[in-house]
Amino acid sequence: MKITDGVDVLEIIANRSGQAMLLNPTLIWDNTIAILADTGFPGQYPDIRAAMDKAGVPLSRLSKIILTHQDIDHIGGVQEILNGSDHKIEVLAHLGDKPYIEGDLPLLKMKNIEQRLANLPEEQRKQAAAMFGAPPKNKLDRTLADGEKLPYCGGITVIFTPGHTPGHICLYLERSKTLVAGDAMVVAEGQLLGPRPNATPDMETAIKSLNKLTQYDIETVICYHGGVYREHANQRIKALAQGAA
Ligand SMILES: [Zn+2]
Repeated sequence: MKITDGVDVLEIIANRSGQAMLLNPTLIWDNTIAILADTGFPGQYPDIRAAMDKAGVPLSRLSKIILTHQDIDHIGGVQEILNGSDHKIEVLAHLGDKPYIEGDLPLLKMKNIEQRLANLPEEQRKQAAAMFGAPPKNKLDRTLADGEKLPYCGGITVIFTPGHTPGHICLYLERSKTLVAGDAMVVAEGQLLGPRPNATPDMETAIKSLNKLTQYDIETVICYHGGVYREHANQRIKALAQGAA
């Protein structure tokens, strides 16, 4: 889905424990550079490639991957994308999630995975184990800092928004006033909501992070789960930061 010239929301479907789940990586590009924000689960490389082709920006043009955070549905495609590319693609993320993304610490949300998998039927358990099996070993080329302005595609501001994970970031695309929200917020049934409590270990910090977003003039929000939200985004984010449901 095209947001504006140079910003496309990709739509890739993951099959998770027998349930279809739509994921929304964002593709940010201009004549010189193409950046992919988040990469799907492991095994979704063909879908990412196809979605990029559909957007008119083939993998051969991709120069950077920015990870909003460490969760497996966001970092899962990195290795396959790097392996599938004939040129160097840089991988960037915040320092707070670096040790998890690089495999020095187990992914935060994987801690109880063994127990959770044990309750699934055999076939699903195998599928999930394959998906979550090996810890990631994604070397970051560099880390991103809060408030850092990346001089690409009209300017991309990195906003450190911890809570969902310790190193979660959002990206503010200055030219189109678009917020790539990662999992700092979700869209459900057309409404913009705060982060999912069951997947957000530090809700208090996550709500404080929403407050930070109110400093930006946001017209369009892209949530990795739920997609695009455009209705009075500034007002809605302010309400969420003040604890609205
Ligand atoms: Zn997610």
